[in-house]
Amino acid sequence: MSRVLIIGCGGVASVAIQKCCQVSEVFTDICIASRTKSKCDDLADKLRGKTATNITTAKVDADNVDELVELINSYKPELVMNIALPYQDLTIMDACLICGVNYMDTANYEPEDIEDPQWKEIYEKRCKEEGFSAYFDYSWQWAYKEKFEKAGLTALLGSGFDPGVTQCYCAYALKHHFDTIETIDILDCNGGDHGYPFATNFNPEINLREVSAPGSYWENGHWVEIPAMSIKREYEFDKVGIKDMYLLHHEEIESLAKNIPGVKRIRFFMTFGQSYLTHMKCLENVGMLSTTPIMYEGREIVPIQFLKALLPEPATLGPRTKGKTNIGCIFTGKKDGKDKTYYVYNVCDHEECYKEVGSQAISYTTGVPAMCGALMLLTKKWDKKGVYTVEEFDPDPYMEALSKYGLPYEETFEPVLVD
Ligand code: NDP
Repeated sequence: MSRVLIIGCGGVASVAIQKCCQVSEVFTDICIASRTKSKCDDLADKLRGKTATNITTAKVDADNVDELVELINSYKPELVMNIALPYQDLTIMDACLICGVNYMDTANYEPEDIEDPQWKEIYEKRCKEEGFSAYFDYSWQWAYKEKFEKAGLTALLGSGFDPGVTQCYCAYALKHHFDTIETIDILDCNGGDHGYPFATNFNPEINLREVSAPGSYWENGHWVEIPAMSIKREYEFDKVGIKDMYLLHHEEIESLAKNIPGVKRIRFFMTFGQSYLTHMKCLENVGMLSTTPIMYEGREIVPIQFLKALLPEPATLGPRTKGKTNIGCIFTGKKDGKDKTYYVYNVCDHEECYKEVGSQAISYTTGVPAMCGALMLLTKKWDKKGVYTVEEFDPDPYMEALSKYGLPYEETFEPVLVD
């Protein structure tokens, strides 16, 4: 019997909510709250009668701590699932602390306004000290560790696929297959085709910022930063085929570097087609990816937000997308003094996802782990007070839940390695 408040009702949240409703013996009551209440009402109407979960809805601006506190205090959930945007991570964590409620999300904190001088000062110091320049990092949320410990609460960070399942794969590899892991390559392949010349599979602002930023990887105890898209490899993915992939910075590298003892190198690769990259470069060159407001005909507009309004809504890609995703981790390391390699991955089919929940595989592969993370906390299979990322918990029950609710894993002990 658990009451859960879910904030956000976009692509990922709608999958997570539908999945929670499939496990109504645990998720007995959910409240879906977002900025646009009509979206929450539409989803609740669609689900009523098909699930034993009691669903209510609310309007909330999650940038506003007071509004959040009022909603949490009136609904009295055990857990708040933040599936809005990374911009809201800290305000929702603050509200959870004030109300004494557990917290989880699917992506680490990133500020909406990167020109904010207070934030910028800390950011520039971090770039110099740590050696990577992504706008997001864990320091903001790790700073809450003591507060959550003292309050006897848990905050689970990044329970999506990557971050999320990829870190669970690392914990699983370490627990069952290696004495020491030396290298980790995280490979994220989307072999899907939606038929549009250009669209992003999830929130365009978050997606385009990530892809247009410099890449970086962890090697021998420090970050190595490279120009965006400057390391390219070709890889043959099971059930997808040969794809070009590019080295990106990705948030889970930061926590894995801390939590996988002795790891020498961690890289993250994502596949992109040439057409996507050409469109993105062109938009970047003309300033459309900028988050800095400009004046247009007497009105302030943010170029990337204007672009978002022009692009297809990620949620509308579902019915058009064909093909599969393949996301997983390749490990090298030692077991019983011998060299060993291991590749664990999930293959997910866009059309199958659409049939089940009306979304493509990108939202599905994030929404299912969000539900599974909540399930771990609510059933107390994961029960540690403080602020944690996925690899810091026992991977076995999470792997089991992922397999049961739609994301089974496949494995090979003879993978082709990435050079
Ligand atoms: P969407 O843009 O589709 O949805 C975001 C939702 O958050 C919308 O319902 C939006 O409401 C709501 N929202 C935004 N701002 C506020 C606010 N101030 N107050 C209340 N609600 C708000 O995003 P996605 O579903 O694609 O992504 C959701 C999250 O998942 C993001 O944090 C993203 O980074 C993360 N993600 C994680 C992945 C992983 O593998 N770990 C992969 C993909 C995404 P409205 O519609 O009214 O604006």
